[in-house]
Amino acid sequence: MPELAPILLILDIDETLLYASEKRLEKEPDSRVGPYFNYVRPYLQEFLQCCNEHFRLAVWSSSSADYLNAIVAEILPKGLKLEFVWSRERCIQRFDGEVQEFYYVKDLRKVQRMGFDLDRMLIVDDTPKKVERNFGNAIYAKPYFGDPEDSELRGLSGYLKSMAALANVRSVEKRGWRNNCSNKD
Ligand SMILES: [Mg+2]
Repeated sequence: MPELAPILLILDIDETLLYASEKRLEKEPDSRVGPYFNYVRPYLQEFLQCCNEHFRLAVWSSSSADYLNAIVAEILPKGLKLEFVWSRERCIQRFDGEVQEFYYVKDLRKVQRMGFDLDRMLIVDDTPKKVERNFGNAIYAKPYFGDPEDSELRGLSGYLKSMAALANVRSVEKRGWRNNCSNKD
């Protein structure tokens, strides 16, 4: 059997890898971009290193392109190969009648159109609504708001590693991932 290409792992930024806030928290920010104080999620560098070893990587955020590009330059290691960095412009806008609000959705068919296989694509996001079209590809992270004790990325690294050799990521139930990973909280 020919060896399969590595799974594409698409990472969200805000509240998944980083907390950017106009309000300064008690602790020192890791950096600043525009009006934002940036707090990088604990274990980010180890997490990215692990992901980079086992996956092809991409970033998809529902924030503006200017902000996103500045953040990516600031928090991701130089030289990290990314298949794409997509911002709000690539999201689909939906209206939630219940709360009378617009929200953004990341539709993986757009990624599929670039030639990537939907069976071999994972997306990590803290907001399930943003991946509502592709819950079978989604892994939900707890939202990060600057807690220095947070260890979500450490647990997630272990879990993702266990998925790296799967032929079809959609065949696996991922909602209880915290109970299935080697580094439990
Ligand atoms: Mg987010």
